Amino acid sequence: MKMFLVLLGCCLSLATAAQQLPVLCYHNITTPGQHQNDLLHIDSRQFELQLKTLADSGYHTILPDEMVALLQQHKPFPARAFMITFDDSHDGHYSIAAPLLQRYHFKGVFFVMTVTVNKPHYLSVAQIKALSENGHAVESHTWDHPRPDGYHDWDKELLLPRQQLEKITGRPVRYIAYPFGAYNDSIIRQVKLAGYKAAFQLNRQPAEGKELYTLRRMLVDGRWSGTQLLRKISRYVTP
Ligand SMILES: [Zn+2]
Repeated sequence: MKMFLVLLGCCLSLATAAQQLPVLCYHNITTPGQHQNDLLHIDSRQFELQLKTLADSGYHTILPDEMVALLQQHKPFPARAFMITFDDSHDGHYSIAAPLLQRYHFKGVFFVMTVTVNKPHYLSVAQIKALSENGHAVESHTWDHPRPDGYHDWDKELLLPRQQLEKITGRPVRYIAYPFGAYNDSIIRQVKLAGYKAAFQLNRQPAEGKELYTLRRMLVDGRWSGTQLLRKISRYVTP
């Protein structure tokens, strides 16, 4: 009985590993006074406070390759590891977020929707390339951010964005964030066919048996203090 419980505990800890790496999700990073902080906006001052709290508490970033390799090898995540991701290719990701990440020695994951490349207020080709060259991960967020029932042209939404971003960065693009965090079995199948190794959603538990394609992220509220963020993160981390 005791052995059974030990084995059960071991299996449970592996099965829940995907839930235990805090993967933070941000959208708009703004200048102070430009927009009120909320679920989709955070100004540079508040963002830096959150980053500083994490850095001062010994947290360090890992990127999707390392996360997925550890999951596949059933190995634990390093202590105080987290991931920081940015959705929707806003130009503030390059002009405001990236310099702050650098200040705290963090690397980020930038999920780019390719329809906006080179459009005003969105990341340009040069900025995407620079993010990649600075050690950040550039990954896919589809072509035009469709709703889950709106992926009509799979190549256009899944395959071509991956290829376009690979051409810009010169690096493999193997991860995608579902628009709105929404997915279904059909999208998971197409994401695999398009060559993605893993996919990120938002706040739901990873789906059983499909963990790599339903990796969980935490939508960070721009009103949270560093301490509040730290408290949320600590719930994800193995004691
Ligand atoms: Zn999005």
